[in-house]
Amino acid sequence: MSSGIAIRGSRIGGSASSESERGDAAPRMRISYYCANGHETKPAFAVGADIPEEWECTKCGLPAGKDKQNTPARPHTQVYKSHLDYVKERRSADEAKQILGDALSMLRARRAAGEVIY
Ligand SMILES: [Zn+2]
Repeated sequence: MSSGIAIRGSRIGGSASSESERGDAAPRMRISYYCANGHETKPAFAVGADIPEEWECTKCGLPAGKDKQNTPARPHTQVYKSHLDYVKERRSADEAKQILGDALSMLRARRAAGEVIY
C-alpha cells in the first residue's frame, strides 16, 4: 500500500441479485431519521415490523429521530468539540469580526494608556 490508489473491481452480475428477492421478500418501507447534524438516514423496515423511535445516523453516528424538527440530543461524551467550535456555533462571522475589532481597539486603548506593553 504505497500508492494509495484503490483498484475498483467490476461488479459482475450485480444487477441480477435483485431477482432473487422477488416472491418471498416482505414488503418494505423506508423510514427517514434525522440527526442533530441534519443528516437523513433511511433504513428499510419490513411492513408491520416495530419501528424504533431512534436510529443511528450512518454518516456521523449520532442518534437520529423521526421528527426532523426535534432531533435527539447529542450524547455529551462521544462528540468532541473544541472551544472554537462552540464559539462558531454561537457567533456569526460578522459578530466575530465585531468582537475582534472591539478587542483590538480596547487593546490599543490600554496599550496607549500604558497598561499593556508589547
Ligand atoms: Zn448525522
